[in-house]
Formats: sequence, C-alpha cells, structure tokens
Amino acid sequence: MSLRQAIAALRETPRDLDASEPTAWQRCLQELFATDASRVLIRGELASPGSVAAQPLGQLLDWLAAVPRGPQKAGVLQKFAAWWQREFGNEVDPPWSRALDDYRAELRTIRGLGPETADRLLLFGPGLSVVPVDRAMLRITVRHGWLDLPVADEQAQSVFLSGLGSSVAELQDGVRRLHDVGVAFCGRVADCEHCPLKSFLPEGGPLSPEAC
Ligand code: SF4
Repeated sequence: MSLRQAIAALRETPRDLDASEPTAWQRCLQELFATDASRVLIRGELASPGSVAAQPLGQLLDWLAAVPRGPQKAGVLQKFAAWWQREFGNEVDPPWSRALDDYRAELRTIRGLGPETADRLLLFGPGLSVVPVDRAMLRITVRHGWLDLPVADEQAQSVFLSGLGSSVAELQDGVRRLHDVGVAFCGRVADCEHCPLKSFLPEGGPLSPEAC
C-alpha cells in the first residue's frame, strides 16, 4: 500500500474540525462570548445552530452558568441561532452570498446584538469585510485626528477599511491590535507616554482627549 492510498483512505473520513478549525458558526459564538470559558461549550453543546435553537432558554442558562456574562447572553444566543437557521438551516459553514449591508441590517435587529457586536460576528465568523468599531478603537482614531466626532458609520468604515489592510486576515489582525492598544493605553485617561502609537500623535498631543 502506498502513501497515496493511505492518504486517500484518510480522506474518506471527514476531518474532525473540533481540534483546530472552528466553523463560521463557532467563530461567531467565540466573538459573542469572548471568553476562553465558553470554548468547550462552543465545541460541544453549542456546536451547531440547531443544537442551540432547539433548547429552551432554561437549558441555555444552565449551560452558560459558568461562562462570564454567559447567562446574560443566553437570550441573544437563542435569537441569533433562530436567525441563522432561517438564513442557512443547520449549515455551520454556509456561503454568505447576500449583500454585506443586508446581513448588517438584519443582525442589528436582533435584540441584544449591538452594531459593534454584529459587525464583529460578520468579520470574525464568515470573514466579511466590515470593521467592528468599539470604544477603544474610536478613542484612538479620534485622538489621532484620523476621525472626527460625531463619527458616521460610513465614514468610520471607510477609514478603518482603508487603514487596516486589504485582506480579511489583515482586517482581523488590525482590529485585534487596535483594540488591545486601546484597552491597554487609551482609556478614559490616555497613557501616551508608554503607548506604542505615541510617535503617531499629532503635534501637540492627542486631540479631544475627553471626548470619548
Ligand atoms: S498615543 Fe495616546 S492617544 Fe494615541 S493611542 Fe496611545 S494612548 Fe491613545
């Protein structure tokens, strides 16, 4: 028996995706819960939209009891699973063939799913080209003069999409990095002295430091 035959035999069995390759559905849930404590659940009880949508709220509350802020998100999880089932059935890695704005608008109608979280699911779940703009990222861009308050959604998307990179991988990486810098250094009081973006400040220091 050759190696080619051995590999062909291996390929007859679907690969177990649980080890290293989360599905789009699972990636969405990872963003929704944003905590390592949810990973085992996402690989297990919550592994498909059908397994979530079929459960009564009480069961979801039980499962999420040990996840930080998990119980508060049980309702939105249930609604998101119902939306997913209407859109894709029980397919966990479906093609997202409709216009991005359609998905953005629909997810924003799910009670408990704010605009930033909806965009976060779309970027990190299916990998659509949209940037979730959180407070940390907003502070950085306003303080550096890259965006002006009040910030319109279309304007923010344009600035971030052109600034973070052209591929989805670059967008995802850029969002993570900006968010981390924002949380570590650019809080209500900016710690510019120790911040890696200090050299990118406008002359005279951060703009509107109190504005957001
Ligand atoms: S240099 Fe200052 S204003 Fe700019 S991101 Fe860092 S802390 Fe925020």
